[in-house]
Amino acid sequence: MGVAREPDCYPGENAGQGASGLVAGPLPCLLFMEVVCLMRDTGLYEQILGLAAPWQVTAVTMDQEAQTITVRIELPPAATLACPACGRAGCTIKDRQERSWRHLDTCQFKTLISAPLPRTACAGCGVKTVAPPWSQKHSRFTLQFERFAIDALQEMSIEGACRLLRISWDEADGIIERAVGRGLERRDLSTLRRIGIDEKAVL
Ligand SMILES: [Zn+2]
Repeated sequence: MGVAREPDCYPGENAGQGASGLVAGPLPCLLFMEVVCLMRDTGLYEQILGLAAPWQVTAVTMDQEAQTITVRIELPPAATLACPACGRAGCTIKDRQERSWRHLDTCQFKTLISAPLPRTACAGCGVKTVAPPWSQKHSRFTLQFERFAIDALQEMSIEGACRLLRISWDEADGIIERAVGRGLERRDLSTLRRIGIDEKAVL
């Protein structure tokens, strides 16, 4: 279906991810669930998500009936961030808008990230919404989920992947579009000298 295989991580577009925090698929684990069930080790999810200051996991809650785990990520009230448009450091946060993202399942539990997503006030650019380190802008899935979804989409039909991942066809389409965009951004044309064009047929 023409979707390029994604790398293990996305250097540069997910600056908060540490080298040890990436997970390739649904988290395996009896020991992991024991730790999560204690609901004390917010640091565990900070490592899994590769979060770095000022982002921090402030709570992990489990809903047994809904079979969900929600990871709460917040910034300290006085935190400053770099402007997402020009990179100017130390921008104050104008306001925060509540958002949520689907992450890789924790065993059989659907795992969600919830966070008040900040908008920075930059002297040069004005008010800009920050792209969180765990997700691409405008996506409601984490980068780790999207990478696993692309792997699934390459191994089976779109319908099959949608059933396995519990996502809609439109959500799968959005994941594919963003993956193609990331692939095009990674493409290095610096050594390109000539382009050969053969026939083109339009059906
Ligand atoms: Zn700016």
